[in-house]
Amino acid sequence: MTEALQTVNRYPDYHRTAARTAIANVVGVAPEWVAVDNGSGSLLHGLARLVIEPGTTAIYGWPSFEAYPASVALAGGSPSPVDLNAEGAMDLAALRDAMGDSTRLVVLCNPNNPTGGFIGIDDLRAFLSSVPDNVLVVLDEAYREFVTAEDVSESIALVHEFENVAIVRTMSKSYGLAGVRAGYVIAQERIALALRRSSVGFALNSVADAAIIAAFSPEGLQIAEERIQRIVAERERFLAALTAAGVSHLPTESNFVFIHGDAAELTKRFEAQGVMSRPFPHAGGVRITIGAPAENDAALAVFN
Ligand code: PMP
Repeated sequence: MTEALQTVNRYPDYHRTAARTAIANVVGVAPEWVAVDNGSGSLLHGLARLVIEPGTTAIYGWPSFEAYPASVALAGGSPSPVDLNAEGAMDLAALRDAMGDSTRLVVLCNPNNPTGGFIGIDDLRAFLSSVPDNVLVVLDEAYREFVTAEDVSESIALVHEFENVAIVRTMSKSYGLAGVRAGYVIAQERIALALRRSSVGFALNSVADAAIIAAFSPEGLQIAEERIQRIVAERERFLAALTAAGVSHLPTESNFVFIHGDAAELTKRFEAQGVMSRPFPHAGGVRITIGAPAENDAALAVFN
């Protein structure tokens, strides 16, 4: 990234060949199956624009990431949220039931933000088999690297098996690059190419482009892996402490945990410990992100 700063008077490579190849080699697909952009939020909007137009609808679990309804509404379609199951994961049966003739897009957030619920590959495969070919299924895996129930590479098989699936991932979470703004999509060539052709050219700056290449080098992957292991270990410690203190919370495969309770009251109690939590009053609780050990201790002190 520092090297890339020396040449910011030049445009980046329009086709992002080096960054897409770096990702493709690690993920195990062809570079033609990869699209990159300045954050997965941009890619989610781009995917919605590919298939949504007035008169169409998009289905997604809720509560989830706010960009889903926004991207659908901005593309002129109708957002159609479907309640999560009791474990805070997507209710695939309810999502399937909610689909109709006007449905063009299904967004699955896995693990789900803000609840942490996770759906395994077998259930996803069964769901995808029931979805018509003219519906794009976006699998938002922003937090996928924190999942311990399954290997991170496992879901890539779905892109090989289903031509209407796009996996969206980000450099903002496990790679620690949220401020740099970079994300990527893995999908069969027709989707990846359509996404690249319809994106705002050069939106991903050359420093972020270099960050992708560095992050997907053996050294970059090793650094991310060590970070993921530290966060997962802290997550397990945090969850065990919550359970020991009798605090009701959802199971999580992500780098955050959803704690049940009065959202406003919990937010205030965390604030008193210098901890910022995210209130979800309608979902009946708050989301706390796993941080450094001392930060997690400060959050746990609320329940002592
Ligand atoms: N998807 C999910 C589920 C998220 O929670 C977020 C960020 N909060 C994003 C996508 C967007 O990430 P970014 O634009 O930083 O890649």
